[in-house]
Amino acid sequence: MNLLPDFRCHRPATLEEAVRLKAGAADARFVAGGTDLLVNLRRGLGEPTDLIDLTAIADLAAVRREGDALWIGAAVTLAGLARHPDILAGYPTVAEAALAVAGPTHRTAATLGGNLCQDTRCVFYNQSEWWREGNGWCLKYRGDKCHVVVKSDRCYATYHGDVAPVLMVLDAEAVLAGPGGARRIKVADLYREDGAGHLALEPGEALAAVVLPPPGGRRAAYAKARIRDAIDFPLAGVAVALRRNGDAIGDLKVAITGTNSAPLLADTSSLIGRAWDKDAAAALALALRKKSNLLRTTVTGPKYRRRAMQAMARQLVDRLWAGSIA
Ligand code: SF4
Repeated sequence: MNLLPDFRCHRPATLEEAVRLKAGAADARFVAGGTDLLVNLRRGLGEPTDLIDLTAIADLAAVRREGDALWIGAAVTLAGLARHPDILAGYPTVAEAALAVAGPTHRTAATLGGNLCQDTRCVFYNQSEWWREGNGWCLKYRGDKCHVVVKSDRCYATYHGDVAPVLMVLDAEAVLAGPGGARRIKVADLYREDGAGHLALEPGEALAAVVLPPPGGRRAAYAKARIRDAIDFPLAGVAVALRRNGDAIGDLKVAITGTNSAPLLADTSSLIGRAWDKDAAAALALALRKKSNLLRTTVTGPKYRRRAMQAMARQLVDRLWAGSIA
């Protein structure tokens, strides 16, 4: 680990002030729990001139009703998310995904916004500075070549967040605040498939909140495969939301994480209106195979991660279809 680089630290009391500070700094980063950013900085991954701490902004730490939707501030901690009564009552899968992140001490500090905006990961990137220098760096940071896809002009580092896929299958929106004001987009549109630039934020924008619509008769579930059950990123993760309409699938959304540079929704349109049977399960497995792009960005091989992803998706839909997940 390196010493932290020199930077100025700010602790604004309002979001407007935070956005203004970001616009006025040469290379500023927003920070809250710091469980992702500070580790990366200690590894020499970035040299920001300024860190803007969002944890003193009271509105960002709030959870409140917005009509029949639920507004969750980006600085709500994952531990707070997992025990909030409105989350547990209306969106228990969000609490489940928050509890699946890292260990208890991380979740006490880590925030919803930080989890959604966490950096992508790769075995050639999440290493000490001397290790990366010894390998000639790579194009995600300081270098000009990719060690995973050698003739590539883009980075394939993988997004490993647990909460984003659950929010995506629940149709959540992200509230963004920037120099031009606030806007809302689908959480699914917060990401793009580029390991070196996976967040579709405009310059100077901060993630302020997430808004969850009413559950609408859907049941949801999340599963992840990992090496150490007590604390680890997903080698592959799957979120499913299902609304059963008698003997047919009324609505089905499936999102994957740990497989691509962004969490992604699979194309499940051909399954709507069908019964959940062996053929439908095979069609879902194929849709997931087409959507995923598993590469050697982790120490665990792509083939195992693909099979785990497909098996978890099938098991989750089986259980939701049978009603064995509330
Ligand atoms: Fe670097 Fe390639 Fe890994 Fe991206 S995928 S972090 S460019 S080695």
